[in-house]
Parts: sequence; C-alpha cells; structure tokens
Amino acid sequence: MLTNLQTRDVETLVHPYTNLDTFRSTGPLVLESGKGVWVYDSDGKAYIEGMAGLWCTALGYDNEEIVETARIQMSKMPYTHLFGAKSNDPAIELAEKLKEMAPMPVSKVFFGLSGSDANDTQVKLVWYYNNALGRPKKKKIIARLKGYHGVTVASASLTGLPNNHIDFDLPIANILHTSCPHHYRFGLEGESEEDFATRLANELEELILREGPDTVAAYIAEPVGGAGGVIVPPATYYEKIQAVLKRHDVLFIADEVICGFGRLGTPFGSTAMGMTPDTMSLAKAITSAYFPLSAVLIPEAIHQAMIDESRKIGVFGHGYTYSGHPVGAAIGVKTLEIYERDDVFGHAARMSPRFWKHLDALRDHPLVGEVRGKGLVAGLELVADKATKRAFEPRRGVGAKAMALAQEEGLILRAMGDTLALCPPLIIKEAEIDDLFDRFGRALNRAE
Ligand code: PLP
Repeated sequence: MLTNLQTRDVETLVHPYTNLDTFRSTGPLVLESGKGVWVYDSDGKAYIEGMAGLWCTALGYDNEEIVETARIQMSKMPYTHLFGAKSNDPAIELAEKLKEMAPMPVSKVFFGLSGSDANDTQVKLVWYYNNALGRPKKKKIIARLKGYHGVTVASASLTGLPNNHIDFDLPIANILHTSCPHHYRFGLEGESEEDFATRLANELEELILREGPDTVAAYIAEPVGGAGGVIVPPATYYEKIQAVLKRHDVLFIADEVICGFGRLGTPFGSTAMGMTPDTMSLAKAITSAYFPLSAVLIPEAIHQAMIDESRKIGVFGHGYTYSGHPVGAAIGVKTLEIYERDDVFGHAARMSPRFWKHLDALRDHPLVGEVRGKGLVAGLELVADKATKRAFEPRRGVGAKAMALAQEEGLILRAMGDTLALCPPLIIKEAEIDDLFDRFGRALNRAE
C-alpha cells in the first residue's frame, strides 16, 4: 500500500536507473532529512547512507559551514556566468585550488555541472584539439567495457554498460570499447593478475594498431571502476596501459568523478592507482554534492590548441549557463578548505582498515564470491556457487533483494546486478562502520 507521498511520486516522476514498470507498485523511499552519515525517511526511520548518496556526499548530511557559505554567496551574488568576459571570485578561487591540488600539470579549468557533462567536454576538447593540430582523422576515443562515464549522448557512448546503449541508438561514432580489467570475472583459467594485465595492454595495443594510431585520440578510464561493479584493475595494469598510450600518442583521460577527493585514501584516485593522466574529469565530492558542479582539468597543450582555434574561429563555442556558477564554486572552495583543514582524506585513510576488517570477514560468507575495492569503496559480488564463481540467474534479482533487505535493516547500499556497493561518507567513524556492517551482515544472512 503506497503512502500519499509515494502515490504522488509514482504519478509524476521519472526515476533514473529504475524499472519503471515494477516501480509503479513498490513506490519510492522518500528521504526527508539527514545528519552526519544518517538519513531519515518521511516516517522518521533512520538509515546509514552506505553509498554517500551516489558516491558523492563525502562530508555527510549536515555540514552547516557549507550551508552558511551557500547562504552568504546567494545573498551577495546568486548568479553570474563566465561567458564573454564575465567572471566571479569563487570560480577563480576554485580553479586556482584545483590547479594547486592536481597531481599533474594543469593549465586551465573548465566548469560544468555533472560528471556526464564533464566527460562530454572531454570528448569535444579531444576532437577540437586534434582539429587544431591538423589531425582531423585522430578522433577515436577508447573506453572500457563496464566503465561508467555518464548518460549524455557522448558520455553514455563512453559508458560500457548495455543498459545505457540498448534502444538509445548508442554508442555514437568514434567511440570504441576495450576489455574490462576485472581479473575475477575475465581472467583466464590459471592466468595470474600480472599476465592478465599484460594481455589487456596487448589487446589495447592491437586495437590501436588495427584502427590505425593516426585515428585514435584518447583513452578514458576510472581509476577504480564504480557503477560497473567496483572494479579494481591489477597492480601493474596502468603502467602497462600507459606505455601503450605513450607509444601511439594517445591522450589519457582519468574519470575521477568517484575516485577524486579522498575516496581511495589519496586526494586523487590516479595517485592511488599509479596513473599519470593528461587530463581529469571531476564532480560529486568536489562540493560533497551540496551543489551540482564538475570540472575538467585541461593541460597546456590542449589549451594552446583552444587558443589557436579562437584565433581561427573567433570564439570558443562551448560552455553552460551554469559553468562557474558562483554558489557552486563558493561551495567547492569551502568543501576543499574543509577537506584540508580537517584532514578529511587522512581520516578516510585511517578509517579504511576498520572498513576492510569487516569486509575481509565477509569473504567466507557462502553468498560472497569476491570482495573488492580500495580505501572507502567496496563491492561484494554475490554468487550462486563460490567454488565455480557461477553467477545467479539475473532474473532472481538476488542483489536487488539484498539491497531491499538492507534497507529494511536501516542501511542504504546499491546493487549493480548481484554486486553490492558500499561507499560511505568519508567522515564516517569507527562505531558507525561497525554499525553499518552489523546491518549489512543481517541483510546478507536473510538474502540466502
Ligand atoms: N563518471 C563517473 C565515474 C561516475 O561514477 C558518474 C556517475 O556516477 C559519472 C561520470 C556521471 O556523473 P553524473 O551522474 O553527475 O552525470
């Protein structure tokens, strides 16, 4: 029986990533308020937000400093844009801070509103850059199967998940996919992680050679894959991949939308995973999700090409009404200040052993095939047979059932097929981690 609020929801809203058919009878979980790592539904029931929303609310749900920053900026200057020769203080300051923090040289910062639009900007800049250099054929971008880069036309094309392509007539031209670096699922019988990494790097090189290196412009990857099932590539994977990219003059784009800002125990996921990308997409925890904001970190070579194009065309024809929104930028500046002042990334790194103590204990659970992740993000893959790694029939919806049971237990997590993801706010404390896994364990035992 749906409540009044649920009925009104079902009658009016389209929910992303939801079965729009079965949803009509189940209705939504309506969340009303939050405090720390806790959120409360419209009946007052409390849940630990084990997914930090959608991998984003790093500072939890009641940061008054951010609220006050938003209030002050809204009353002083609620909106300016960056088109033409306009600007605002917070956007300038946030760009300066990001340049300072970035683990690689950055020339300029381009602001957007979402991870999807940041990756669309990446695609457009790669194409623009190669046109400026007089290499109009060098346009193909290689992404990975099971990678997630968003849902706009270009970023959904980069995404390597069937549901984002089927019947949307995607991917668009010039987007290719290479294998997913998930050893547990795609390693061959008896193949070591090292050999698996070598095989995937060889496969990438073969793809580039087959397509023609003069047609391949860029490669994009999440340091640790998120929405595709929390996939951690083998230790030497990026070293091998980067050698291939260098040999063929292919740009490396790091999609740090989830991994950026402390999630893997370091400020950027690239550092944790031994990546040295040319450019990065950032979003989510850049404002702890208190305001929609994304950033693309642009290297000097690409920016120089953009200047050359302006000389030729007269204007850089890309940007959003809300690029560099002063309220979002002020929140971004405050968020980064809090991360630094309160050593939030250090705290997350110190909480990680407690998180992994519980996760390691779950490796023996009869339903758990693999536990994977890094820092404060993890995925647990549920299987029908541990020894053979046999998956459950998708129709059984075991992951979805476990997620629903966790919700009953007062824990929000996310099921990606039969992989359950955990990605709590970075401010989580040890006792809350213990509580989270008590609830998780009860749900898992009931899911059998
Ligand atoms: N890139 C990554 C790695 C993501 O995880 C996401 C969203 O989860 C996106 C891009 C898309 O971001 P958004 O939903 O803000 O468009």
